[in-house]
Amino acid sequence: MNVSSRNASLAARDLAVVWHPCTQMKDHEHLPLIPIVRGAGVWLYDCDGRRYLDGISSWWVNLFGHANPRINAALRGQLERLEHVLLAGCTHEPVVALSERLVALLPPGLTRCFYADNGSAAVEVAVKMSYHYWLNRGQPRKRRFVTLSNSYHGETLGALAVGDVELYKDVYRPLLMDVITVPSPDCHLREPGCSWEEHSVRMFAAMAATLARHAGEVAAVIVEPLVQCAGSMRMYHPVYLRLLREACDRHDVLLIADEIAVGFGRTGTLFACEQAGIRPDLICLSKGLTGGYLPLSVVVTTEPVYAAFYDDYEKLTAFLHSHSYTGNPLACSAALATLEIFASDDVITRNRALAARLQTATAALADHPQVAEVRQTGMIVAIETVRDRASGTRFDWRERRGLRAYQYALDQGALLRPLGNVLYLMPPYVIEPEQIDWLGTVARGAVDAACA
Ligand SMILES: *Cc1c(COP(=O)(O)O)cnc(C)c1O
Repeated sequence: MNVSSRNASLAARDLAVVWHPCTQMKDHEHLPLIPIVRGAGVWLYDCDGRRYLDGISSWWVNLFGHANPRINAALRGQLERLEHVLLAGCTHEPVVALSERLVALLPPGLTRCFYADNGSAAVEVAVKMSYHYWLNRGQPRKRRFVTLSNSYHGETLGALAVGDVELYKDVYRPLLMDVITVPSPDCHLREPGCSWEEHSVRMFAAMAATLARHAGEVAAVIVEPLVQCAGSMRMYHPVYLRLLREACDRHDVLLIADEIAVGFGRTGTLFACEQAGIRPDLICLSKGLTGGYLPLSVVVTTEPVYAAFYDDYEKLTAFLHSHSYTGNPLACSAALATLEIFASDDVITRNRALAARLQTATAALADHPQVAEVRQTGMIVAIETVRDRASGTRFDWRERRGLRAYQYALDQGALLRPLGNVLYLMPPYVIEPEQIDWLGTVARGAVDAACA
């Protein structure tokens, strides 16, 4: 890769003072940083005007492109009125309007919006709120959480505890609360000839047994509906969520749906839970909520949960949780503009065509000798590479095959960032069909580069 002096000088200044997320900084002794100066639609531009198609929506947050004119306009307008005010004791139009809109869009019964400022914080809120709900209802024993293997819910200690991605969790185990982990319905692991639905039903047996045994000490089950994104984009059938909803009701356990990554159209419906026809007791939203513009998250819950906290102050049942930037007006106005685009542009319908195009563009990869599976849920396609398909032998993680795919794609002008040996495409919804075809070609080359 050619690195110009302008790109190199920004990168050098960066490396003197910035510590990057999820990065072994020593890698940057040989791996150039990509200095981005500007974005437009699906494209990101570096200091030299070289462009990269953002094939992963900047870590799954961007929905309608970079520098989207409508979101920009909403933000400019809000900026002239009010940049921020605390949300305790005060309120403002953007947070009220956003809450009204979310309540109208979410499965019926989710009516109370509690804001935070990033996904992990929303998970912390959901965890604390569900424990506290049972405490307020006189059931202090219900303080444990059930989670799925290979799940991801964020990086702060509570969120890390209810997640299960080894790479992020292992080191910090001594600091984390103990949770009950149940095998994931992950359909990549199904027997040959078994459908996604059958496999998901079968895998529910472990969850059913766990709830039957532990319900008395469990506050909530937390799941990522349909796709375990950070866990290598592993997917499962909606039937699992339906069974889980029934079991949680039967055993008096709350259900937390972490739709931080899969919400806002990623799986083909506005919310993934819709595909199972269920309503969780708490839903966590962030990432796409602001169209990928600003940090904002929200936990939306039901009247019964809200009511358990609602009493005279002296009873000390209030949920005394806050963040400085809770419900920030700028972030809320970006979110409102994002929801306005969903309403006016029939995004979910257009995405159906884009998802079909993604499928066609990546279909041939299923025959690749080192591809074990090409799987898709809505606007997410994942390509599972292996050393040898016949025996199912995996690549040694130390070989860092994904990094080769990343570098190949960058050279072609696409930003793809594989999760280990899994290459995936999760583009912004403003992508054009022809750009999807091109991404498919890049993905093919990236797989070849990774497996070479
Ligand atoms: C990204 C993510 C989080 C954490 O959100 P942050 O804003 O990165 O803290 C939590 N849950 C899921 C499912 C996610 O994908």
